[in-house]
Amino acid sequence: MLTLVTGGTRGIGAAVALRLAEEGHDLVLAHRADDGAAAALRTRVEARGHACHLWRGDLTDPGAVEALFAALPGVPTGVVSNAGLTGPVGPLAEVDPDVVRRVVDVNLTAAILVARAAVRTMSTAYGGSGGVLVTIGSGAATLGSPGDYVHYAAAKAGVDALTLGLAQEVGPQGVRVVGVAPGAIRTRIHADAGDPGRLDRIGDAVALGRAGEPEEVAAAVAWLMSDDAGYVTGTTLRVAGGR
Ligand code: NDP
Repeated sequence: MLTLVTGGTRGIGAAVALRLAEEGHDLVLAHRADDGAAAALRTRVEARGHACHLWRGDLTDPGAVEALFAALPGVPTGVVSNAGLTGPVGPLAEVDPDVVRRVVDVNLTAAILVARAAVRTMSTAYGGSGGVLVTIGSGAATLGSPGDYVHYAAAKAGVDALTLGLAQEVGPQGVRVVGVAPGAIRTRIHADAGDPGRLDRIGDAVALGRAGEPEEVAAAVAWLMSDDAGYVTGTTLRVAGGR
């Protein structure tokens, strides 16, 4: 089993990579930053006895997405489209238009480009042998996230629509498309957004009373990719502690 994880070298993506390695997947991890995190994670994956290839590029660039899929060391049976960012938080009227464009580009445009390439690789209509595409959306898509990042929520709602629509297109071609919508998960995305206290404030709004851990999202992804979820497609699973 060869699986591609975008944004796969830190946060939720890294937890997904480690979990899938434990379940027998060889991995390609796509990342953007050149900060040493990728090489460190590769060492941890390889310690679990599986191959781990790294690829670096910006997935908002259609040419980069094509290059990524051309560089895969085999035909994948799984793709986890996880790369994303929130950008600075604030009411929409205060958000810089360039930030709006970047947030939509990374969370939605890149996700659509990766989904397109995944289908052209895994679908039996294009010579593949089938597989599973997992999209990582956000609970924000159904909350709207007023005052924080409604543009991010709108982009992630688009990811839910991508999951639903593409599943209909490619189900007959042996590809399942499933989504995971995390709630507030303990990664550095919140500090990067300029709101490091978010996870401590959020407890009251979550039925389970706490933020989630990346490994809890990874467990859901692993199940959705497994044969146990073989009749699940076109739907998004919230992993949000009941928020
Ligand atoms: P992190 O910030 O820890 O990781 C984000 C990943 O996306 C990084 O690996 C980053 O790569 C990659 N990435 C960002 N922009 C690009 C780009 N243009 N091209 C390629 N890769 C890119 O965040 P999380 O792990 O928290 O988030 C993972 C996913 O989960 C995202 O889609 C996010 O929106 C979603 N999510 C997270 C929630 C949370 O509370 N943490 C809640 C709901 C959804 P690099 O490190 O190389 O820069």
